[in-house]
Amino acid sequence: MERNGRKITKIFIIINILLSLGMLYLIYSEHQTLEKQKKEKETLTNQYKVLLDDDSISEKEIEEINHKIQELQNIDETIKEKKETVFKLAQELEQKIKKKETKYKIAYLTFDDGPYYNTYKVLNILKKNKVKATFFTTNVNGTYCYDNKKYECHKLYQEYAKANHTIANHTYTHGWNRGLYSSASSFINAIKKQEDLIKKYTGITTNIARFPGGSGTPKAQGGTSRFNAMVAELRKNGYGWVDWTAQDGDGGSLSNVKTGWKNFTGSINENIEVVLFHDYHWVTTNILPDVIKYLQDRNYIILPLFYESVMINK
Ligand SMILES: [Zn+2]
Repeated sequence: MERNGRKITKIFIIINILLSLGMLYLIYSEHQTLEKQKKEKETLTNQYKVLLDDDSISEKEIEEINHKIQELQNIDETIKEKKETVFKLAQELEQKIKKKETKYKIAYLTFDDGPYYNTYKVLNILKKNKVKATFFTTNVNGTYCYDNKKYECHKLYQEYAKANHTIANHTYTHGWNRGLYSSASSFINAIKKQEDLIKKYTGITTNIARFPGGSGTPKAQGGTSRFNAMVAELRKNGYGWVDWTAQDGDGGSLSNVKTGWKNFTGSINENIEVVLFHDYHWVTTNILPDVIKYLQDRNYIILPLFYESVMINK
């Protein structure tokens, strides 16, 4: 009897997980449709503006367009709701993983220090593999990305948002060795400045932060009490923060693919991983398709970070 009971529980859990996964997939595909509708709304709104200036257009035609705009008006709110549903399911999955009720695991891929001219490559690989990630952004690369002035960095914020990746805050200056951590207020100012930048280019208010250099850097520079003051400021401003549990070492002096791959595979040992990468590193863009395959082959579900995740310190 007991064995049967256990078997039934197991089957129930498996069905539960499959339903969750099925829902995640459905929600993501629905997301794509909503994105299309959103674009349609923008086009219609622009057309409407033109029509208002054109006397030859009949009132009836204007009315029709007005009606269409109204139909699409709630799209933004719907997208927000759908995202919340996905994150709620992900939260449930985290709990199941913690209780060891599932063979599935979660990997949160995170990319620091962008936007950068290499970011396009990262975005393309993620898109090709239908994977959502988290980008810890900073203004350290300025208006134009790096060397060639071909890509305007700020445009990339819209690319992150359009693809429904999580946009997170890595401070405006990234100046961990230029006074960023000299006081709690200097730190929070750099957070708020980056928050404004993200909001300006995407309309999104982020609530996830990462300390440049990781939380060990402000702790080492100003001691625990100053670090705690910074965390208190983050909390006061509605933020959670996160370090990482795995990495390929691209923040250091990584110079070849073999070492990057060895670092990455050697660092994967938790059931919920937050993997640190940098948009700018050629080794990372080189191994990223294999990274995704490696994780998925080992039952990791790759998700974008969200405030309620157990991995976010609050
Ligand atoms: Zn960084």
